[in-house]
Amino acid sequence: MAPRHALGIDFGGTKLLAAVVDTDTGEVVATAKKKSSAQDRPEELMGRLYDAGEAALKAAKLKPPQISGIGVGIAGQVDADRGILLGTPNLSQATVDLPMAKLLRERFGVPAALRNDVQIAALGELHFGAGRGVADFLCVFVGTGVGGAIVRDGRILTGASGSAGEIGHLVVDAGGRLCGCGGHGHLEAYASRTAITRSLLGDLKRGRKTTLRDLLPDLDQQDAPGGTAIRSGILAKAVKAGDELTTETVREAARYLGLGIASAINLLNPQRVVLGGGVIEAVDLLFDVAARYARQESLPTPARSVEIVRAGLGDNAGVVGAALLGAGA
Ligand SMILES: [Zn+2]
Repeated sequence: MAPRHALGIDFGGTKLLAAVVDTDTGEVVATAKKKSSAQDRPEELMGRLYDAGEAALKAAKLKPPQISGIGVGIAGQVDADRGILLGTPNLSQATVDLPMAKLLRERFGVPAALRNDVQIAALGELHFGAGRGVADFLCVFVGTGVGGAIVRDGRILTGASGSAGEIGHLVVDAGGRLCGCGGHGHLEAYASRTAITRSLLGDLKRGRKTTLRDLLPDLDQQDAPGGTAIRSGILAKAVKAGDELTTETVREAARYLGLGIASAINLLNPQRVVLGGGVIEAVDLLFDVAARYARQESLPTPARSVEIVRAGLGDNAGVVGAALLGAGA
């Protein structure tokens, strides 16, 4: 009998989550967490993967032969066919062309595969989350950046070189703000947590009154090099407290998010748009306003039929999708 468990690893911007997942039910059986660091060299990056994977297996009381495989979702550019991590500037600047799947196979003795983290989260949503039973949908995740993935006929669309679905780099403002990718006016430069943080810190410097000063006493000393200064939970608290500046800033980000989604709806005519990620989960206002603009600004026919919903798996989408990849889904 084939093993019903697989190991899924979600290697995100600031942390690494490994989980043993029952791939028949999507149930997360055991997890282990590690921090990640942009200063990591390739061997340190692999060391963190091994440690987290082994800790999750130990917590599940399983040995490597008892799992069907290992899948990794990673925030970086990936050659999925060859199992190679091409580069991941946010996780490890020193790592290029790392044969991650091969190294994992050698270490654990089971099949291993890797993919872009957002496509992996969409795979989780497709099988056990808000995309279950839906053949054509679009996933949009708002966090440090804005990620997206397209499911077409029940499969993740990869495109000619693996980058299909990058909704964060749709142009929403011609010649606008500089994006992290070097382009201008891209959605991510307006709607990500990094963008929201940057905008808020700018207004604070100009002396705007805000309850954020009470929620984050050392705010004035903070800068946002990685854009991680203001967490989603703090944004949610400030909006709930009726803070004018935060509410205004979130609304503006949501408007751009909605415009980007409207463009994607016009292009793809999906049955459903699944919205997830830390900021969406924490801040209802972002979801509500984005969904309204997405409907308002898309063509009448696709706007009438599209359902805009929240992601179903929360933080677990990545590890569940990764485990499914490891199991050969
Ligand atoms: Zn961009």
